[in-house]
Amino acid sequence: MTLRFGTAGTPSTVQGKPAADAVREIHRLGLAALEMEFVHSTWLKADKAPELGKIAKEQDVVLTAHGSYYINLNAKEPEKRAASRGRIVDAARRTFEAGGYSVTFHPAFYFGEPSEKVASVVQGELKKIEKELKEHSVKIWVRPETTGKPTQFGTYEEILKLSEELEMCMPCIDFSHLHARTNGKFNSYEEFSQVLTAVESTLGKEGLKNMHIHTSGIAYGEKGEKNHLMLDESDLRYQELCKAWKDFKLSGVVICESPVMEKDALLLQSTYAKI
Ligand SMILES: [Zn+2]
Repeated sequence: MTLRFGTAGTPSTVQGKPAADAVREIHRLGLAALEMEFVHSTWLKADKAPELGKIAKEQDVVLTAHGSYYINLNAKEPEKRAASRGRIVDAARRTFEAGGYSVTFHPAFYFGEPSEKVASVVQGELKKIEKELKEHSVKIWVRPETTGKPTQFGTYEEILKLSEELEMCMPCIDFSHLHARTNGKFNSYEEFSQVLTAVESTLGKEGLKNMHIHTSGIAYGEKGEKNHLMLDESDLRYQELCKAWKDFKLSGVVICESPVMEKDALLLQSTYAKI
């Protein structure tokens, strides 16, 4: 696997069409990955997943998934944490049944608590998730994501530490979120390289060969992310980001969440190819 580029959900050119059409459209556009958006529900049913997986394989499209927005592994009520775990497990199972590669999600909120305390709670919950997935013989990468707001657990250091300590866990590095949560930092070749150096020192070369990345234009302020933008309408230095990806010889998927996703996914892909 090299670096594969794709969209977060159905490309706008086939909006509203079934998932199989989205997969074929990704291939037709010259892209190679599709993230299934399970953000409001895990819409892919168990009996349909293998068929979608077969089409994705034929079209040489790698499937990933974005889990529910209603996840907080640091919720105070045990039943809310259990519901969050259930949503991650469901998304992971469906994605695995469709032959998918990984499932990402925003893990938790701090609620004003220190990073170490939240990290240990999140790690405990992720251990339970791993146990349940193993019981169902589900093999998939479970990827807490770097998040876009300073109130959300998910600096790259926090995410890498979880990945180091848990067996099925690897990071989803959302470079736009890192840029937004720090109100404009993480926007140079040096800073992008700093993140990738940390991936390598925590997870080894293997970490660089097993990447799940999110990148799009983003609007932000002191409270972090506001909304996604087209890359060329944003201040994200994506050319420098692509150069860092190339220099660190990454493999994995790059998913684009810009308003016209396929346009920016293709822009990232061609920028990357030209370096
Ligand atoms: Zn996300």
